[in-house]
Amino acid sequence: MSTALERGVDMLKTQVDARVESYFSSCIHCGVCAEACLFYTETGDPRYTPIYKTEPLRKVWQNEHTLWGKLSTSLGLSQAITEKDLSDWEELVYDSCTLCGRCSMVCPVGIDIAYLIRKVKEGLAAAGFVPDDLQNAGKRALEFGSPMGLTAQGLRTATEALEKEHGIDIPIDVEGAEYLCMLSSSEVVLYSEFIASISKIFSAAGVSWTLSSKYFEATNTGVQIGDSRLAAQLLERLVEAATELKVKTVISPECGHAYTTIRWDAPNILGRVLPFNVVHIMELLDQLREEGRLKTTCCFDEYLTYHDPCNISRRGGVMEQPRHLLNQVAPNFIEMHDCREMNWCCGGGGGVSAIERAEPLRQQVFNLKKRQIEELNLLTLVTSCSNCRSMLEEGLEENHMDVTVIGLTELIAGYLE
Ligand code: SF4
Ligand code: SF4
Repeated sequence: MSTALERGVDMLKTQVDARVESYFSSCIHCGVCAEACLFYTETGDPRYTPIYKTEPLRKVWQNEHTLWGKLSTSLGLSQAITEKDLSDWEELVYDSCTLCGRCSMVCPVGIDIAYLIRKVKEGLAAAGFVPDDLQNAGKRALEFGSPMGLTAQGLRTATEALEKEHGIDIPIDVEGAEYLCMLSSSEVVLYSEFIASISKIFSAAGVSWTLSSKYFEATNTGVQIGDSRLAAQLLERLVEAATELKVKTVISPECGHAYTTIRWDAPNILGRVLPFNVVHIMELLDQLREEGRLKTTCCFDEYLTYHDPCNISRRGGVMEQPRHLLNQVAPNFIEMHDCREMNWCCGGGGGVSAIERAEPLRQQVFNLKKRQIEELNLLTLVTSCSNCRSMLEEGLEENHMDVTVIGLTELIAGYLE
């Protein structure tokens, strides 16, 4: 066995915990999960059946943890994992799974398939079977603090330009501020209106907040790769920055996987409780609304709809807050068919958007979102995740659809009293 293969198989063995054992021994092979996955529904390719994406881990479980598997192994009859398996599953797992978790919602025996796929990634990453684009993003995250290679100086330049353009104040490194707002690099590079919007809203609502130049990146490439060590290193930087600034609460910005990582996964990845609270920007804005501190004027009066980012709605539980906010400024807000926890993914979550070779597949699976939008026949789509936003914009452009995508924070800021 080659060293890389050995490392991968050893890592997969360590991934078999009680949940993994109970999941694999409960699967009744009904195939219901297939119809919940956009990679299957839009291609009809049975390889994209969610549970099939976990096959390397299932093999390890079967060989090491079942009587039949142990017997077969001792007789030399078991099917060992090969490098070809890992190479085939690299594409299957990284390109055709956004870790959206929709399959986990429909499994009749309650298997969290996304949890299993995340564990398969750990094995592939340990063996070095990770798409180059993601590997490089991980290296940039370690070296510069951001997967896009954005530096603290780049952040300062961008915020200074925003301050001049909008006549606003964007605080950086303010010790003792109540909130530390994290950003995804795309909110600095592509959607800087998000930063201008929070500045305007927080100023109007009297919120004490700051950015950090020491560590501003909310996204975690370690989680996308499935490399827990890298994920922990990046999270430690966030904890250090927040601790130094003595903030009470960290705000996860309009980024889906950043929220589930910081809010839900971080204590497990780090093995300890975080020394601060974590809120998604939608939770905070809704709290300000409830307290009467977010006053808006009327209103966006055309029809619009909301795309639920999987990691914020289904996996994060932040479903009602964006709707309260939308109802405050957009009386003609209508729901998409299949919304909230059963929403369909944009097709680019979980690191898929960073993989160039996956683009044709992403475009194919976007057909589902296209149908959802066409059904409503409207011109404006709102979301609260910058990665979803860029995937939606890409898909709409590719399909020549005249629909504008807006971030919800930006929409609210546009109607501040
Ligand atoms: S839906 Fe659940 S039980 Fe059925 S095949 Fe998929 S993982 Fe197995
Ligand atoms: S997590 Fe989402 S993309 Fe991945 S297999 Fe399940 S339904 Fe498909």
